[in-house]
Amino acid sequence: MFEIMGEQIRVAIDGPAGSGKSTVARLLAERLGFLYIDTGALYRAATFGCIERGVDLSDAAALASAVAAMSVELRKGEPYLDGRNVKVEVRRPELTQQVRHLSSNPAVRRQVTGAARQAARGHSIVAEGRDAGTVIFPQAQVKTYLDADPQERVRRRHRELREKGDSVSFEEVLEAIRRRDASDMGRADDPLRVAEDAQVIDTTGLTIEQVVDSLEKLVKRKIGEGKQ
Ligand code: C5P
Repeated sequence: MFEIMGEQIRVAIDGPAGSGKSTVARLLAERLGFLYIDTGALYRAATFGCIERGVDLSDAAALASAVAAMSVELRKGEPYLDGRNVKVEVRRPELTQQVRHLSSNPAVRRQVTGAARQAARGHSIVAEGRDAGTVIFPQAQVKTYLDADPQERVRRRHRELREKGDSVSFEEVLEAIRRRDASDMGRADDPLRVAEDAQVIDTTGLTIEQVVDSLEKLVKRKIGEGKQ
Protein backbone atom coordinates (compact mmCIF):
# COMPACT_ATOMS: atom_id res chain seq x y z
CA MET A 1 0.00 0.00 0.00
CA PHE A 2 1.37 3.41 -0.99
CA GLU A 3 1.27 6.21 1.51
CA ILE A 4 2.72 9.68 1.86
CA MET A 5 4.44 9.77 5.25
CA GLY A 6 1.84 7.43 6.73
CA GLU A 7 -0.96 9.60 5.35
CA GLN A 8 -3.67 8.08 3.16
CA ILE A 9 -3.68 9.05 -0.47
CA ARG A 10 -6.73 10.49 -2.17
CA VAL A 11 -7.02 10.59 -5.91
CA ALA A 12 -10.04 12.47 -7.30
CA ILE A 13 -11.17 12.04 -10.89
CA ASP A 14 -13.95 14.23 -12.25
CA GLY A 15 -15.36 14.72 -15.70
CA PRO A 16 -18.46 14.54 -17.88
CA ALA A 17 -20.35 11.41 -18.97
CA GLY A 18 -18.36 9.38 -21.50
CA SER A 19 -14.98 10.84 -20.53
CA GLY A 20 -13.82 7.37 -19.50
CA LYS A 21 -13.50 8.22 -15.83
CA SER A 22 -15.34 5.18 -14.40
CA THR A 23 -13.21 2.64 -16.24
CA VAL A 24 -10.04 4.61 -15.60
CA ALA A 25 -10.82 5.09 -11.89
CA ARG A 26 -11.62 1.41 -11.39
CA LEU A 27 -8.45 0.23 -13.13
CA LEU A 28 -6.24 2.78 -11.40
CA ALA A 29 -7.62 1.78 -7.98
CA GLU A 30 -6.93 -1.87 -8.81
CA ARG A 31 -3.34 -1.17 -9.86
CA LEU A 32 -2.56 0.90 -6.80
CA GLY A 33 -4.45 -1.32 -4.34
CA PHE A 34 -6.66 1.67 -3.36
CA LEU A 35 -10.38 1.62 -2.62
CA TYR A 36 -12.55 2.72 -5.55
CA ILE A 37 -15.22 5.26 -4.62
CA ASP A 38 -17.96 5.63 -7.25
CA THR A 39 -19.85 8.73 -6.10
CA GLY A 40 -22.28 8.53 -9.04
CA ALA A 41 -23.43 5.14 -7.74
CA LEU A 42 -24.57 6.85 -4.53
CA TYR A 43 -26.72 9.33 -6.51
CA ARG A 44 -28.04 6.40 -8.51
CA ALA A 45 -28.87 4.38 -5.36
CA ALA A 46 -30.73 7.37 -3.85
CA THR A 47 -32.63 7.79 -7.13
CA PHE A 48 -33.54 4.12 -7.19
CA GLY A 49 -34.76 4.37 -3.59
CA CYS A 50 -37.02 7.32 -4.43
CA ILE A 51 -38.46 5.62 -7.52
CA GLU A 52 -39.09 2.44 -5.55
CA ARG A 53 -40.92 4.42 -2.87
CA GLY A 54 -43.00 6.24 -5.48
CA VAL A 55 -41.68 9.69 -4.49
CA ASP A 56 -42.59 12.50 -6.90
CA LEU A 57 -39.18 13.28 -8.46
CA SER A 58 -40.19 16.86 -9.22
CA ASP A 59 -40.89 17.57 -5.53
CA ALA A 60 -37.56 18.72 -4.05
CA ALA A 61 -38.74 18.70 -0.43
CA ALA A 62 -40.20 15.20 -0.77
CA LEU A 63 -36.93 13.97 -2.30
CA ALA A 64 -34.85 15.50 0.48
CA SER A 65 -36.93 13.91 3.23
CA ALA A 66 -37.15 10.54 1.46
CA VAL A 67 -33.36 10.41 1.07
CA ALA A 68 -32.80 11.54 4.67
CA ALA A 69 -34.80 8.50 5.78
CA MET A 70 -32.72 6.09 3.63
CA SER A 71 -29.38 4.51 4.26
CA VAL A 72 -27.29 5.02 1.11
CA GLU A 73 -23.72 3.76 1.34
CA LEU A 74 -20.78 2.21 -0.46
CA ARG A 75 -19.40 -1.05 0.84
CA LYS A 76 -16.21 -2.25 -0.81
CA GLY A 77 -17.01 0.06 -3.70
CA GLU A 78 -20.56 -1.21 -4.28
CA PRO A 79 -23.78 0.75 -3.67
CA TYR A 80 -26.14 -0.34 -0.89
CA LEU A 81 -29.62 0.96 -0.19
CA ASP A 82 -30.94 0.22 3.29
CA GLY A 83 -28.43 -2.61 3.58
CA ARG A 84 -29.30 -4.14 0.18
CA ASN A 85 -26.76 -4.37 -2.64
CA VAL A 86 -28.25 -2.41 -5.58
CA LYS A 87 -25.31 -2.44 -8.01
CA VAL A 88 -27.44 -4.04 -10.75
CA GLU A 89 -30.55 -1.89 -10.20
CA VAL A 90 -28.60 1.40 -10.33
CA ARG A 91 -27.38 0.65 -13.86
CA ARG A 92 -30.86 0.54 -15.38
CA PRO A 93 -30.75 2.91 -18.37
CA GLU A 94 -34.10 4.55 -17.53
CA LEU A 95 -32.71 5.52 -14.13
CA THR A 96 -29.78 7.45 -15.64
CA GLN A 97 -32.04 10.24 -16.89
CA GLN A 98 -33.78 10.54 -13.53
CA VAL A 99 -30.65 11.07 -11.43
CA ARG A 100 -30.58 14.81 -12.24
CA HIS A 101 -33.61 15.37 -9.97
CA LEU A 102 -31.55 14.11 -7.06
CA SER A 103 -28.16 15.49 -8.06
CA SER A 104 -29.54 19.03 -8.31
CA ASN A 105 -30.97 18.81 -4.78
CA PRO A 106 -28.63 20.45 -2.19
CA ALA A 107 -29.89 18.35 0.75
CA VAL A 108 -29.33 15.16 -1.23
CA ARG A 109 -25.85 16.38 -2.26
CA ARG A 110 -24.90 16.94 1.39
CA GLN A 111 -26.00 13.43 2.30
CA VAL A 112 -24.18 11.79 -0.62
CA THR A 113 -21.02 13.78 0.14
CA GLY A 114 -21.16 12.47 3.71
CA ALA A 115 -21.66 8.90 2.52
CA ALA A 116 -18.69 9.13 0.13
CA ARG A 117 -16.44 10.53 2.88
CA GLN A 118 -17.61 7.84 5.26
CA ALA A 119 -16.74 5.12 2.72
CA ALA A 120 -13.25 6.61 2.29
CA ARG A 121 -12.44 6.74 5.99
CA GLY A 122 -9.22 4.85 6.76
CA HIS A 123 -8.38 4.07 3.12
CA SER A 124 -6.28 5.35 0.28
CA ILE A 125 -8.83 5.96 -2.45
CA VAL A 126 -9.53 6.71 -6.09
CA ALA A 127 -12.82 8.62 -6.13
CA GLU A 128 -14.68 9.59 -9.28
CA GLY A 129 -17.66 11.76 -10.02
CA ARG A 130 -18.54 15.36 -10.84
CA ASP A 131 -17.35 17.07 -7.65
CA ALA A 132 -14.94 14.51 -6.17
CA GLY A 133 -12.01 16.95 -6.27
CA THR A 134 -13.89 20.24 -5.90
CA VAL A 135 -16.25 19.40 -3.03
CA ILE A 136 -16.08 15.87 -1.61
CA PHE A 137 -12.30 15.48 -1.27
CA PRO A 138 -10.84 18.98 -1.66
CA GLN A 139 -7.67 17.80 0.13
CA ALA A 140 -6.99 15.08 -2.48
CA GLN A 141 -3.26 15.02 -3.29
CA VAL A 142 -3.96 14.13 -6.93
CA LYS A 143 -6.85 15.71 -8.83
CA THR A 144 -7.62 15.19 -12.44
CA TYR A 145 -10.37 16.19 -14.82
CA LEU A 146 -10.91 13.82 -17.71
CA ASP A 147 -12.49 15.28 -20.78
CA ALA A 148 -13.04 14.18 -24.37
CA ASP A 149 -14.48 15.61 -27.51
CA PRO A 150 -18.33 15.46 -27.20
CA GLN A 151 -18.73 13.35 -30.38
CA GLU A 152 -16.19 10.88 -29.00
CA ARG A 153 -18.01 10.71 -25.66
CA VAL A 154 -21.26 9.90 -27.46
CA ARG A 155 -19.50 7.28 -29.60
CA ARG A 156 -18.05 5.57 -26.51
CA ARG A 157 -21.35 5.55 -24.63
CA HIS A 158 -23.21 4.32 -27.72
CA ARG A 159 -20.74 1.45 -28.19
CA GLU A 160 -20.95 0.54 -24.48
CA LEU A 161 -24.77 0.41 -24.57
CA ARG A 162 -24.80 -1.59 -27.82
CA GLU A 163 -22.39 -4.10 -26.30
CA LYS A 164 -24.84 -4.55 -23.45
CA GLY A 165 -27.56 -5.38 -25.97
CA ASP A 166 -29.32 -2.01 -25.90
CA SER A 167 -30.54 -1.04 -29.40
CA VAL A 168 -30.48 2.71 -28.67
CA SER A 169 -29.62 4.99 -31.63
CA PHE A 170 -26.62 7.35 -31.85
CA GLU A 171 -29.00 10.36 -31.85
CA GLU A 172 -30.71 9.17 -28.68
CA VAL A 173 -27.37 8.82 -26.90
CA LEU A 174 -26.31 12.25 -28.21
CA GLU A 175 -29.47 13.81 -26.80
CA ALA A 176 -29.10 12.00 -23.45
CA ILE A 177 -25.47 13.12 -23.07
CA ARG A 178 -26.39 16.70 -24.00
CA ARG A 179 -29.09 16.71 -21.37
CA ARG A 180 -26.76 15.28 -18.72
CA ASP A 181 -23.98 17.75 -19.56
CA ALA A 182 -26.40 20.66 -19.33
CA SER A 183 -27.74 19.51 -15.99
CA ASP A 184 -24.33 18.56 -14.48
CA MET A 185 -22.59 21.75 -15.61
CA GLY A 186 -25.51 24.13 -15.20
CA ARG A 187 -26.83 23.31 -11.73
CA ALA A 188 -26.44 25.87 -8.96
CA ASP A 189 -25.00 23.46 -6.37
CA ASP A 190 -21.62 21.81 -6.92
CA PRO A 191 -21.71 21.94 -10.72
CA LEU A 192 -19.18 19.96 -12.72
CA ARG A 193 -16.10 22.15 -13.10
CA VAL A 194 -12.33 21.82 -13.17
CA ALA A 195 -10.76 22.16 -9.70
CA GLU A 196 -8.06 24.85 -9.62
CA ASP A 197 -5.38 22.31 -8.81
CA ALA A 198 -6.60 19.60 -11.18
CA GLN A 199 -4.69 18.32 -14.16
CA VAL A 200 -6.93 18.22 -17.23
CA ILE A 201 -6.46 15.22 -19.50
CA ASP A 202 -8.13 15.14 -22.90
CA THR A 203 -8.76 11.43 -23.48
CA THR A 204 -9.89 11.82 -27.11
CA GLY A 205 -7.65 9.51 -29.12
CA LEU A 206 -6.06 7.97 -26.03
CA THR A 207 -6.60 4.39 -24.94
CA ILE A 208 -7.82 3.60 -21.43
CA GLU A 209 -4.44 2.01 -20.80
CA GLN A 210 -2.61 5.24 -21.71
CA VAL A 211 -4.77 7.31 -19.40
CA VAL A 212 -4.36 4.87 -16.50
CA ASP A 213 -0.57 4.79 -17.10
CA SER A 214 -0.26 8.55 -16.97
CA LEU A 215 -2.38 8.80 -13.82
CA GLU A 216 -0.39 6.04 -12.16
CA LYS A 217 2.79 8.01 -12.90
CA LEU A 218 1.21 11.15 -11.49
CA VAL A 219 0.24 9.38 -8.25
CA LYS A 220 3.66 7.76 -7.86
CA ARG A 221 5.38 11.09 -8.47
CA LYS A 222 3.26 12.63 -5.69
CA ILE A 223 4.11 9.79 -3.37
CA GLY A 224 7.82 10.25 -4.22
CA GLU A 225 7.59 14.00 -3.51
CA GLY A 226 5.89 13.32 -0.18
CA LYS A 227 8.74 11.07 0.93
CA GLN A 228 11.46 13.67 0.27
O1 C5P B 1 -21.08 8.91 -12.97
P1 C5P B 1 -22.52 8.50 -13.16
O2 C5P B 1 -22.98 8.52 -14.58
O3 C5P B 1 -22.86 7.21 -12.50
O4 C5P B 1 -23.34 9.62 -12.39
C1 C5P B 1 -24.73 9.70 -12.48
C2 C5P B 1 -25.19 11.12 -12.21
O5 C5P B 1 -24.97 11.45 -10.83
C3 C5P B 1 -24.47 12.23 -12.98
O6 C5P B 1 -25.04 12.51 -14.24
C4 C5P B 1 -24.59 13.42 -12.06
O7 C5P B 1 -25.83 14.08 -12.27
C5 C5P B 1 -24.63 12.81 -10.69
N1 C5P B 1 -23.37 12.95 -9.97
C6 C5P B 1 -23.13 14.14 -9.34
N2 C5P B 1 -22.00 14.29 -8.58
C7 C5P B 1 -21.12 13.28 -8.48
C8 C5P B 1 -21.33 12.07 -9.17
C9 C5P B 1 -22.48 11.94 -9.92
O8 C5P B 1 -23.92 15.07 -9.44
N3 C5P B 1 -20.02 13.45 -7.73
